[in-house]
Amino acid sequence: MAFESLSDRLQATMKKIRGRGKVSENDVKQMTREIRLALLEADVNFKVVKSFVKSVQERAIGQDVMKSLTPGQQIIKVVQEELTELMGGEQTKLNLALKPPTVLLFVGLQGAGKTTSAAKLANYIRKTHNKKPLMIAADIYRPAAIKQLQTLGGQLNIPVFSLGDQVSPVEIVRQGMEQARADHHDLILIDTAGRLHIDEGLMEELDQIKAVSHPDEIFLVVDAMTGQDAVNVATSFNERLDLTGVIMTKLDGDTRGGAALSIRSVTGTPIKFVGMGEKMDALEPFHPDRMASRILGMGDVLSLIEKAQATIDEEKAQDMQQKLLSASFTLDDFLDQIGQIRNMGPLEDLLAMMPGANKFKGMKNMQVDEKKIGQIEAIIRSMTSQEKNDPDIINAGRKKRIALGSGTSVADVNRLLKQFKDMKKMMKQFMGKTKGKKRNPFNL
Ligand code: GDP
Repeated sequence: MAFESLSDRLQATMKKIRGRGKVSENDVKQMTREIRLALLEADVNFKVVKSFVKSVQERAIGQDVMKSLTPGQQIIKVVQEELTELMGGEQTKLNLALKPPTVLLFVGLQGAGKTTSAAKLANYIRKTHNKKPLMIAADIYRPAAIKQLQTLGGQLNIPVFSLGDQVSPVEIVRQGMEQARADHHDLILIDTAGRLHIDEGLMEELDQIKAVSHPDEIFLVVDAMTGQDAVNVATSFNERLDLTGVIMTKLDGDTRGGAALSIRSVTGTPIKFVGMGEKMDALEPFHPDRMASRILGMGDVLSLIEKAQATIDEEKAQDMQQKLLSASFTLDDFLDQIGQIRNMGPLEDLLAMMPGANKFKGMKNMQVDEKKIGQIEAIIRSMTSQEKNDPDIINAGRKKRIALGSGTSVADVNRLLKQFKDMKKMMKQFMGKTKGKKRNPFNL
């Protein structure tokens, strides 16, 4: 989980101070000492840590906080605000060209996630801004980079412009831009070559690509797991190319968070998107305030709602609600609903966005839940449509057959049937209670 170890430590520190009705200067000093250690251990740049701790301390010892009725909570608010500020304050939005096409240039070291991020972002902007993207494959050095972009483009149904790996990247970009204009693409994404290390040849080439493509955004793609190296890379690229934003990838595997917390402060370049997994929908706009809340265990309910809105089909949800109300909800509908929730991503990621998420962590039953959901799906799929519509007909013989077909046991089938029955009963009771009042339980 992103920021897990940092999050654990900061939350343990905050817990000590949360409910306090009185806080002394010494308490604040003790707390900031712990925060300092937690941040250093998370590989946050030491200068950044120093100034962060100083700001928190000054504000926490300030009159308004110490004299307030809830100093503990006020201090946590200070830490949350300062963390937000550290990561850039306000969300920095995508810069779309006033006059299309919008051109996005992706730069960075090899393996940082440029190709993947270009495809993810093309997909994201197409969805959110209704754009017609073209991706240009200008990474001619990494073996298979062109093929990789073509494969991703194929999966997403987004065209890829390529001239193979024998033409210079600058020429590829030049011709790709012409092609995009001719085909009326209003969004162009250029995947450039990385190197293992920063070198003059690479920078020179990127400079030339910048000159021919006039990008609206120059995104540096960095791997969060590389910690302070990512910050150093960002500093070098920024000096040469004037970056407009950072896409930080692999945050899903970064338990420390050092790069994410330092990069804005050190380079002045904001993080605009974060990669949270290998799948094509695992890219999120970066909101400093929401990330700060997530780190402090206050949850990120807004992102969760946005995720739900993006993946759950509104019409289907309405339809489902109607079915629940009229008690005609079948096992097929149940299956459908499970599928929709699964589309939102792994259960563990969803839970991470809930307030107090660290409480769920490590709970054994949470980890097996994914497996259990798979089991439920298999059981329902092994039923005939008659059985799904009228589970009462499922007798001992049928249960045996379903268990065999789904690779589960009769006890598993029984459990599912009971859960489904209980759910329907609950709905009925609920409807009984609301009878004569509002008929729509979701608007209560
Ligand atoms: P490039 O050399 O910069 O183009 O890097 P690639 O796009 O080929 O990415 C390198 C590897 O990192 C691939 O295996 C990607 O699937 C993986 N990757 C990219 N972004 C993420 C991310 O946000 N999370 C995870 N877990 N893996 C990622």
